[in-house]
Amino acid sequence: MIWPFNRELATLASADTESVGNDALTLLAAVANALPDPFLVLDSDGIVIVCNPPAEEIVEMQLKGQHIAHAIRSPVILDALKEVMTNSEAVKVDFTHRFPLERHFEAFIAPLAKQQLDGRKPAVVMVLRDLTREQQLERMRVDFVANASHELRTPLASLLGFIDTLEGPAKSDERARERFLSLMRTQAERMARLIDDLLSLSRIELNVHRRPVGLVDLGSLVKQAAEMLTTSARQAGVHIRLDLSGELLVQGDRDELIQVVQNLLENAIKYAADGKHIDVLARKDGAGRIELSVADYGPGIPPEHLPRLTERFYRVSVQESRSRGGTGLGLAIVKHILNRHRAKLAIASELGKGSRFTIGFSPPDRPKPL
Ligand code: ADP
Repeated sequence: MIWPFNRELATLASADTESVGNDALTLLAAVANALPDPFLVLDSDGIVIVCNPPAEEIVEMQLKGQHIAHAIRSPVILDALKEVMTNSEAVKVDFTHRFPLERHFEAFIAPLAKQQLDGRKPAVVMVLRDLTREQQLERMRVDFVANASHELRTPLASLLGFIDTLEGPAKSDERARERFLSLMRTQAERMARLIDDLLSLSRIELNVHRRPVGLVDLGSLVKQAAEMLTTSARQAGVHIRLDLSGELLVQGDRDELIQVVQNLLENAIKYAADGKHIDVLARKDGAGRIELSVADYGPGIPPEHLPRLTERFYRVSVQESRSRGGTGLGLAIVKHILNRHRAKLAIASELGKGSRFTIGFSPPDRPKPL
């Protein structure tokens, strides 16, 4: 059996038929409307005969009846259209559309057999694929690999430098050897921390689309995280105060949430030790949402840095972060874990007064009926 629309399309594609009527045009418009990617049919003068909503969304104007050059000004597209019409061969080109937002596309442009369609001769079909997100992800990946390599290369270079010194000028210097070995340990530990953090990040990213299913008692989890940091808090002269009231059950993965609380506490200890204490507060509101905040009373963070703090390797001061053993990945790990938990992180800070990191957990999913 031949489906009616197949027959119509066959008519449209047949070179023998000089004219196809309104039915074919309607059908073509319906096919165009059903396509998720921008799709256009132009006549040999470059006038748009058929287009779909995704195509009109890009240019933010009605396209039908318009010359394509009014909508897409890229010379790459206009040259490609000319080439297709002259050579009757399909081409694929990349182009940038700059208004209203800069977006990158791949255009596939192919010639059509020459028949009349609603009084006009369809000459070319154009399908666009939005590459913007793909290219952004690719750039992020390249930047990430470059940053990670750079971060690892720095301690590695200093390790190699110490080895050279120990093999050469400091070969028989017992005291220098002791000192260099201790410095080498610091650098090696930094590399190990970086690799641990990178592995954590990639493990979390693998599962980012799966919300954990277990229920976790946030109160006992926070106590455990704070206990694990009592020694470093004591060494920094900071006291961690906990204010955890009521039943604090959240849907989550216990190990990952411990990592979140630990990273926030570690930062508060590292960067805000002169504040003398850290307040950890958890509460449930009337709608069942649980809020957990970690507040310090240290130097605070300049406002222009706040929106970027959770980016990988972003630090207010690289030097300061390194001198305190930071990798620049702690808050990126926090953000990724919270994304997986469908929880939100808000950062508020005031210079000279301190910083508050607040996590909002949505209520657990209702159990599904059996
Ligand atoms: P790092 O390993 O450098 O601590 P993070 O991702 O944990 O990396 O934090 C990113 C940056 O945010 C830090 O380098 C620091 O500049 C800033 N920061 C984080 N927490 C605090 C805080 N409690 N007080 C001041 N600055 C902070």
